[in-house]
Amino acid sequence: MGEDTHAGNLSLLGGCLCLDFANTVDWRTSAHPREFLNDYADLLVWSAHAGILSHEEAWRLRSEAANRPEEAAAIHARAIALREAIYRIFSRLAAGAPPEEDDLALLNRELSAALAKLRVVRNNGEFAWKWDGEGEALDRMLWPVVRSAADLLISGDREKVRECAAEGCGWLFVDTSRNRRRKWCAMTGCGNRAKARRYYQRKRGRS
Ligand SMILES: [Zn+2]
Repeated sequence: MGEDTHAGNLSLLGGCLCLDFANTVDWRTSAHPREFLNDYADLLVWSAHAGILSHEEAWRLRSEAANRPEEAAAIHARAIALREAIYRIFSRLAAGAPPEEDDLALLNRELSAALAKLRVVRNNGEFAWKWDGEGEALDRMLWPVVRSAADLLISGDREKVRECAAEGCGWLFVDTSRNRRRKWCAMTGCGNRAKARRYYQRKRGRS
């Protein structure tokens, strides 16, 4: 897809689809947040990158969206509203606070739309969940995202959700480290920056 976008290069380190979706804004809590989902096309790029759309589905949706640009724009706006609700819910939980009712209500509205598209299919004698249709519903990438948020909320992993300790970062992740003391979204990113800053401050303090 487009080479002018970076949505397809974002780290998927949240440990859960819905948190990776929340992490499509970088430096969220800083004065200069960076948005990676600037339009519906970015949403498609990220969804293929995250593995919730096949590349064929993403291409099909791209041409569908060209025929229905207003609908695509409305779905992009819906995706951002959902993402922000997911961020607020898990950011508050990570800080030990209950989510806002409005955010849960938004999640539940999206959940009822998504679950209406869930099917049981038979495949080689086994049964499995499958999302309905192939690639005509422009909002189909939101279904697994919203389901992932609901699954995370009701699972034990909810208590392991953390927000990166680096100032301004705002990325969320599930802390699966054995001692439950992971502080940074990525040691090579925020962890190193924090270490470098401490080093710099120590040096400055000495001189
Ligand atoms: Zn971070």
